[in-house]
Amino acid sequence: MYIQVRLLKGWKAPIWYSVLEGSDPLEIGSIVEVPLQNRKSPAVVIALHQILPLSITFIVRSILAVHATPNDEHYQGFIKKVASFYGIDPVYFYKRIRSFFKIGRTVGPPLVIEKQISSSIPILLTDEQKVAIDGIFPALTNGFFEPVLLYGVTGSGKTVVYKELICKVLKEQKVVLYLLPEVSLCLQFQSLLARELPDFLVLGFSSASSLSEKKQVWQSLLEGKSFILVGVHLPILLPISNLGLIIVDEEHEGGFQEKKHPKINSKEIALWRAKEYNIPIILGSATPSVQSLYRAKTLGWKFFELKKRFAGAFPQIIVAHLRENKSKRKNFWVTKELEERIREQLIKKEQTIIFLNRRGYSFFLQCKGCGFTPSCGQCSVSLTYHKELSGNEELRCHYCAFWREMPLVCPECFLSAEHFLKKGIGTQQMVLILQELFPTAVIGRMDADITAQKKLLKQMLIEFEKGAIDILVGTQSITKGYHFPNVTLVGVIWADLQCNLPVFNAHEGAIQQLIQVAGRAGRAEKPGVVVVQTMGDHPLFKYLDETKYLDFYHEEIEMRKLSNYPPFTRFLQLELMHEDSEILEQEAQEVFDYLFELNEKQKLEVMLLGPVKPIVYKISKMEMRHIFLKTTSFEKAFILFFALQTKKIKSKLFLVPTQS
Ligand SMILES: [Zn+2]
Ligand SMILES: [Zn+2]
Repeated sequence: MYIQVRLLKGWKAPIWYSVLEGSDPLEIGSIVEVPLQNRKSPAVVIALHQILPLSITFIVRSILAVHATPNDEHYQGFIKKVASFYGIDPVYFYKRIRSFFKIGRTVGPPLVIEKQISSSIPILLTDEQKVAIDGIFPALTNGFFEPVLLYGVTGSGKTVVYKELICKVLKEQKVVLYLLPEVSLCLQFQSLLARELPDFLVLGFSSASSLSEKKQVWQSLLEGKSFILVGVHLPILLPISNLGLIIVDEEHEGGFQEKKHPKINSKEIALWRAKEYNIPIILGSATPSVQSLYRAKTLGWKFFELKKRFAGAFPQIIVAHLRENKSKRKNFWVTKELEERIREQLIKKEQTIIFLNRRGYSFFLQCKGCGFTPSCGQCSVSLTYHKELSGNEELRCHYCAFWREMPLVCPECFLSAEHFLKKGIGTQQMVLILQELFPTAVIGRMDADITAQKKLLKQMLIEFEKGAIDILVGTQSITKGYHFPNVTLVGVIWADLQCNLPVFNAHEGAIQQLIQVAGRAGRAEKPGVVVVQTMGDHPLFKYLDETKYLDFYHEEIEMRKLSNYPPFTRFLQLELMHEDSEILEQEAQEVFDYLFELNEKQKLEVMLLGPVKPIVYKISKMEMRHIFLKTTSFEKAFILFFALQTKKIKSKLFLVPTQS
């Protein structure tokens, strides 16, 4: 037999090899070791042939070894479907998964957060929890596809429901996939599950997992072991023969869509996978996405509500206006309401979370003399001013890795940099302000600058859980699903910052974020308070009380229907990329005209908009243009996209189906 392979690393074209008789069985996607000059190299099988084509006149060498692959009969079909949806080669997935075992870097042992009070006492389930568990059991026992939307207010004990179901699946010798929208959250949940389900194996498979842990995952899959697998994107792409249940927690989060092309959405493909494998899938959230609520209603998904907090009461919400009583306070960004509450917290030895969705020190710098604003040479954005506690000053790009030291003078008018205006506020400045107001408090910070450093992040989570940090200042990283029992005060520094973004789902994103961060307060016996600071009133604020979230949904879905926005229509974005703006400009127009004509000819009735220059139109020297497609079904847009594959253009071209 003969095969064509592609190397996992290096040379991109297919290479022919022969396979000796009696070798381990091979299929497309199998990983093999092949001889290459005088080395050996891992490669993925992309085609199988009984005979060698006549055109091949050179000597074909034979493969050296076959790597074992978990035996999953549905896997090829699943990968093919995902690949075709995103318009990419299936080999991409095989290479991606396996490259982890070859090139992976050891990051150290998995996170172990110190043991809390053991939960060996049997938990008394609430009636709401029982209803949800009993409702999902039949699909687990009888093995059929069933999407479930679990809407549980913050602190309602969704995890208790998950745990019951997980135990059931694991006892049947199957695998549970537990997907979360962010790596830092995976670390916390992995240790939580390991602590609370000590009889079972809990493994992580994410960018924070060590190489040895990834190898253990692969080995367990090969042996068909039963375990819990926690991750963001990667676990859903693994071959798993005994998959029993998929849980997508914090399902409303955008983090399930990958940030790099192809922008695969692991929540969406998890739904396909559950269908392909005939298993139940649970989407859980305290603020379910508008899309999932709509789907649950129109597609007959099972829908369960947990309306009561498992422990503790809902926090008291206080709205404080930043523009009022300015003279009475020491700093503009901390109202009297917030300042006094924080002071009480420190006396009571209870913890505080301060939410501000901007990292760095200030948004940007501007020269007072000439208006000059430093910007990134590789991206079309201004640089963000960063100032460490040590006093070290830096300008950083939030879109690429570029950074530079703070200039001493303005490069345009040579005015001293001391006279630069620092506009807006970021987490670093917030820490300094709080430190000045509360000199004895221990203040921590959690934003993307910290979460990018896995060690620092782990340390921060451990310290905060232990109570060694009094106040934690953070961006959206702290809004997601964390459970810190001693947090009884949450301060939102600037609530209307997110409310008016120019996207169709700005309100949805803003209210979800505010409810989620407010939900970190008062999750145990002690009552919680949330101080929401704002520049102005916003109609959204009437939904800050999370028990009114479904009212928000009803209002929002009416608005979407009137404006014909998703979920009533489908949005897709075609992204063209090239370093040369002239080539890009020209090709974007050509592509648009081509699509426009084809759309007319085939009467697809897709609405085409563009090409437009996005607000951030250049990242890492790569320029971008967008064409938007609005349609009643994805299929129609795909007809257009696939027609483009034959068109010869120099720009890179990607299709991003927008969810929600
Ligand atoms: Zn200047
Ligand atoms: Zn940049």
